[in-house]
Amino acid sequence: MSTNNYMEQAEANLLHTYNRYQIVLEKGEDVYLFDTNGNKYLDFAAGIAVNSLGYSNQEYKDALKEQIDRLMHVSNLYYNQPLAEAGEKLIKASGLDKVFFTNSGTEAIEGAIKAARKYAYDKDKKTDHEIIAMNHSFHGRSLGALSVTGNPHYQEAFKPLIGGISFADFNDLESVKALINDKTCAIILEPIQGEGGIYPATQEFLEGVRKLCDDNDILLIFDEIQCGMGRTGTMFAWQGYGVKPDIMTCAKALGCGVPVGAFVMNNKSASLVPGDHGTTYGGNPLVCTAVSKVFDIYDKEGILDHVKEVSEYLVQKLDMLVEKYECITQRRGAGLMQGLILNKAANPVILKALENGLILITAGENVIRIVPPLVITKKHVDEMIGKLEKSLV
Ligand SMILES: *Cc1c(COP(=O)(O)O)cnc(C)c1O
Repeated sequence: MSTNNYMEQAEANLLHTYNRYQIVLEKGEDVYLFDTNGNKYLDFAAGIAVNSLGYSNQEYKDALKEQIDRLMHVSNLYYNQPLAEAGEKLIKASGLDKVFFTNSGTEAIEGAIKAARKYAYDKDKKTDHEIIAMNHSFHGRSLGALSVTGNPHYQEAFKPLIGGISFADFNDLESVKALINDKTCAIILEPIQGEGGIYPATQEFLEGVRKLCDDNDILLIFDEIQCGMGRTGTMFAWQGYGVKPDIMTCAKALGCGVPVGAFVMNNKSASLVPGDHGTTYGGNPLVCTAVSKVFDIYDKEGILDHVKEVSEYLVQKLDMLVEKYECITQRRGAGLMQGLILNKAANPVILKALENGLILITAGENVIRIVPPLVITKKHVDEMIGKLEKSLV
């Protein structure tokens, strides 16, 4: 079947919730993707910050293949070995105490919201607790996660959402303070806002929010779904700030390609007990084999140090582009989570880049988002810069 036929077949049958780019991706190798016409693309999007190990990590693939032959799914009514191992590795990497595995990021957010509400409920037996979220945040598409997503356009048609949510301005501590009252049970934020346009939190803001939470017995939830798993050079972005949350959400690169998420919490926030929460697939042997292997490989291959080194080079090169091109007004980000802010729409550049064999994505109207596999080298950075420069004009 030809490429056009695949696209027609898909559009005839799939709900049209995405304006997809006009390529059909078929296979991956190293940090490159290939389409059904044989075109090769340097991948600086990584399936939206998912494929941190690229496409050719043999150890990762072999582990999954073996696990498929052994056991793919049981249920959470029983223990399984990969689940036990993955849980221990995530707890060790985070320094938190308890984890619940989910199938996606949005479900991790649901769990975090439930844990926070239950914590507050256990304290005062009231059912009117409130959560403070941030403008321009993104936490997912299920109704709970959508309720804390600070983007009116995503929310409007789906109201009424869950109640008791108010929105502060990111990096504006006074705006958070103004919303706190005796019903507030949690504050949720991304240490680096992703979809909202690649905005890193300031050190003072995270420290200030942590103190507000401590002073008022409010749980601090960090959404590390995009900025976590080594993307900024520490396993979790908050570790780079030295500001620890009570609850953290993970997904995206947690399994490097299998659908898995998690909410991870300290003992104080571990409020959910049998009957409160559950999932059929969450933490099954297949996805937990991936999670477990990902932690092993990060460790063995020194991924965090590698990210620190190669991202320094990337930042240098991106800053040169900011100097050189009038249409690029700014660079924002940390590690291998970078945004180039344009004085025009970003999508035409993304389309041009695709023609030039480079996959990039946007983060809002005028931001080019750069979230490559964490295993890229300086050579790939040079190749990306060359292709991007060709796409800017
Ligand atoms: C992608 C993302 C989510 C949602 O994750 P899904 O797996 O798409 O449900 C939530 N929060 C952040 C910060 C994200 O980047």
